[in-house]
Amino acid sequence: MSLLELKGLETFYGASQALFGVTLDVREGEVVALMGRNGMGKTTTINSILGLVRPRSGAISFAGKTISGLRPHRIARLGLGLVPEGRRCFPNLTVMENLVATARGNEWTFEKVTALFPRLGERRDQYANTLSGGEQQMLAIGRALMTNPSLLILDEATEGLAPVIRQDIWSAIRTLKAAGQSILVVDKTLSELLPVADRCFVLEKGATVFEGAPLALTPELQDRYLGV
Ligand code: ATP
Repeated sequence: MSLLELKGLETFYGASQALFGVTLDVREGEVVALMGRNGMGKTTTINSILGLVRPRSGAISFAGKTISGLRPHRIARLGLGLVPEGRRCFPNLTVMENLVATARGNEWTFEKVTALFPRLGERRDQYANTLSGGEQQMLAIGRALMTNPSLLILDEATEGLAPVIRQDIWSAIRTLKAAGQSILVVDKTLSELLPVADRCFVLEKGATVFEGAPLALTPELQDRYLGV
């Protein structure tokens, strides 16, 4: 059974239509890649899932429940953990305070997050605004994990980061996957994303145009849908 399922999603910003039929699903324990060129609707899809924008039609279900139309905090509480584009942490709280602030449930703890990201442990008493971009990104992932999400959603989590840090983040994603964490991930670096993904969905002009295994996304299709 799918943990998350989107069917024929259509979303508008005012009069302007951004999604024209997005279909996507994430099964328990899977890493699913959501792909597409700039402006094709990836962030709008994520915002629709989380209730941050309200889809006009289509259906979204999570863990067997219809969630379209619910308020964002209700949706989040059902077990969706977002790592937003642009890593938002509380700048004037320390690393530890940032993590404790989102704690919910008891599976994920400060110790478990810092085992995944040792740098965060080393900087536990530093204010978030003194961290490097990569460390802030790790903190953003840690904050999402502290909510004990059944589905972790990563929107451009490695964007703009140095290669070494990107590797730390991908390695954490692989560790999470091995532990059975379900993950929906948006990322532009195909060479890093494809080896981790179980399945891919590609959006073009707000609609799903490809669904399949990473290997089925041939260089030809990558060029057609994702090439610049
Ligand atoms: P990127 O990779 O650049 O983040 P994306 O695939 O996430 O792109 P979206 O940000 O979802 O794409 O944008 C989809 C469409 O909706 C685009 O045409 C965009 O201009 C439009 N759009 C996005 N946000 C808004 C908004 N707040 N108001 C109006 N139009 C918007």
